[in-house]
Amino acid sequence: MSHDPLHPQPIPSTSSDGAPGSSEAFGNPGTKPAFNTNGSADLSHVSQWVFDLDDTLYPASSNIMTQVEHRMTQYVAKMLDVPEEVATGIRNDYYRAYGTTLNGLMANHVVDTAEFLDYVHDIDASTIDPTPNLANLITALPGRRIVYTNGSFKHAENILEQLGLTEAFDEIFDVEASGFTPKPHREGFEKFVDHFEIPASETVMFEDSTQNLKTAASLGFTTVWVHDEEEALVRKLAESGEHIHFAADCLATFLSQAKTSTSK
Ligand SMILES: [Mg+2]
Repeated sequence: MSHDPLHPQPIPSTSSDGAPGSSEAFGNPGTKPAFNTNGSADLSHVSQWVFDLDDTLYPASSNIMTQVEHRMTQYVAKMLDVPEEVATGIRNDYYRAYGTTLNGLMANHVVDTAEFLDYVHDIDASTIDPTPNLANLITALPGRRIVYTNGSFKHAENILEQLGLTEAFDEIFDVEASGFTPKPHREGFEKFVDHFEIPASETVMFEDSTQNLKTAASLGFTTVWVHDEEEALVRKLAESGEHIHFAADCLATFLSQAKTSTSK
């Protein structure tokens, strides 16, 4: 099974149900992460709040990305007229060579990118529930609130609608806006930064992909890894990953405890 940056595999879930009281912070930006027991991150320098969409704004256990992965395999099978098992192998090859299924298709075939994105994102989003608490927390953040996704604009709209987060965000930056150079590619990030004239030192990024956070940190962003792994694994990764400044196993809890420029 490939690990496709466009559609990362869900991390095995342990406690991503939004239960409060389980957020953790790891050290300070720019320093070697160290476990911080007080659970509150100092984000008072932040004016740009950037959120990944899939498996970040909703739990990976919601099964959305599993559906998208299957739709991608189906699309490749139909397009190339091969069985799904063969299509899976092709997708794995494309992942290794080009980073994503779509980039592989674009490099080797004439592919209608809009059709591809519409097809793979035509999924049942009813497996995720509205999150009014998260909506209130994001809406209250001081500054610009942006969704940065490797999916399509329509997919982002669909998921945000389902979560009740449509009004919580000012902007959506999708894979087409990135010139089809998805995260974690630096070129895509640079397009993102240029597009919104982002001051990197005032930007925080929330992501479930540590690879994507690596690029974000290299650009000067503060990073928050949104995860649903067991604490021991999280600590292990934090110790070895200087590009992860904070970690949150519940986004709402993390945001409710974070220090911002407007919090007391
Ligand atoms: Mg994601």
